[in-house]
Amino acid sequence: MNYGILKNLTRMKTLLTAAALLVCIFTIFAGTGEAKGKIHRLTNVTSDVTEIDGRAALHIEIETNRTGLSYALSQRYRADNRLVIDIEDVEIGKNLPQEIALDGTIAQKLVLAQREDHRAVLRIYTVQSLAHEDAYRLRTVPGDAGGKTKEKLVIDIFADGGKALGTAVRGHTVVLDPGHGGSDSGAVGYSGIREKDVALAVALQTESLLRAAGANVVMTRTRDADVSDTDHSPRGELQARVDVAAGNPRSELFLSIHCNAFTNPDAHGMETYYYPKTDNDERFARLLNEELETAGGLFNRGVKYAKFYVLRHTEIPASLVEMGFLSNPEEEALLGSADYQKKMAEALFRAIVRYFE
Ligand SMILES: [Zn+2]
Repeated sequence: MNYGILKNLTRMKTLLTAAALLVCIFTIFAGTGEAKGKIHRLTNVTSDVTEIDGRAALHIEIETNRTGLSYALSQRYRADNRLVIDIEDVEIGKNLPQEIALDGTIAQKLVLAQREDHRAVLRIYTVQSLAHEDAYRLRTVPGDAGGKTKEKLVIDIFADGGKALGTAVRGHTVVLDPGHGGSDSGAVGYSGIREKDVALAVALQTESLLRAAGANVVMTRTRDADVSDTDHSPRGELQARVDVAAGNPRSELFLSIHCNAFTNPDAHGMETYYYPKTDNDERFARLLNEELETAGGLFNRGVKYAKFYVLRHTEIPASLVEMGFLSNPEEEALLGSADYQKKMAEALFRAIVRYFE
């Protein structure tokens, strides 16, 4: 390195420092100016051990004074017994302690830390690993009507670590059929979300949840392709799916995954279908319906009888789910989002687990 470069570097350093200072000042002003009025305050934290869906759980509620809390779960520490949640545009109420002791059996403590720019980090130190998807639940719920609390961040941590949930499917064989694919897009929403893509995304996530719980999964397709090698007519494609199920003699349950569409964009909601060819078709459709309602919160169009090809021609109990309407712009946005697809997959997984319980 020669002197000239060193001099240039020094000058550059000075310039950079000045620039950084300017950015800093700008950020401070931009921060306080813009952020006013939309800052949430965390006002109270409560926790109790309770039973949720028959499972012992530590239920934590964090109250806020506004609606629309923006938070994100950090995936990094779950295996290390830590749930880390980043919250934006937030201020920790002055009366809240930085550290709150929890029940001691499911989780030890909750730590709140205020960061710059109205960010906060919430850490919960749990007794067991949170690596399993069903070890905890995180969501916001509306506060008490008329009360000061506008919204609550609710965290449920399950004593079983999520491991107990899937055990019923271990060793069972399930056929998952993502509707359409390849030359057949299925329904297409106004903004271009395609049924075949949503169905595949949800099916693949359901598959991994089932495999993680020890189930065998047979997929009619695992990519954007037609299922039949020869006959791409609607009937040929449907028969090919039935053939996949029949070709695996251990198959016990068949689930076809779809999204709905209608000429009127107001049509909305989810529904599940069965054809009563065995004693268990309707039961399976009911479980799917319950779980989809709980997970997605869409209008429930019910459990319906239908003579759909894949329901009638499969020999094993089968159901077809319509997760929502792609022809409805609001539901299209939901169905196209990764977050909602994950919720759908977890709901389908839980229904299958309950089927085998
Ligand atoms: Zn369809």
